[in-house]
Amino acid sequence: MEYLPLTKDDRDLIEAAASVIKKNYVRGRHQVGAALRGSSGRVYTGVHLESIVHDICAEPVALGAAASNGEREIDTIVAVAMVDDGEPQVLSPCGTCRELITFYSPEASVIFVADGEVKKCRARDLLPGSYGDSTKA
Ligand SMILES: [Zn+2]
Repeated sequence: MEYLPLTKDDRDLIEAAASVIKKNYVRGRHQVGAALRGSSGRVYTGVHLESIVHDICAEPVALGAAASNGEREIDTIVAVAMVDDGEPQVLSPCGTCRELITFYSPEASVIFVADGEVKKCRARDLLPGSYGDSTKA
């Protein structure tokens, strides 16, 4: 996998995700925050929605906010989870979110965790042999 260098903009995006979950944290309802930078440069955030029957990750909430404001391409996306000491930590996207991000923007940069370190790569590299790839054959 090709890792990309983390930039100041990436650190700012992580901080935006941390900020949205710190402001809106409710145990058992909102424990993960996401931030994405669109190709316009604007930043959109979202928190995950937990319920008794189905949870919705923070990434699609942020993506929905972006799409609702006319943003069509993800430049970079990250999610963070609240941990016990109250300092959010970067969280890797789940499989469903990897499909979603790759469907909308295969060239998007995704900030995630590998081998205990915060890394960044292209969305398509997080999902080799994806469902989306199989429907293009
Ligand atoms: Zn997810």
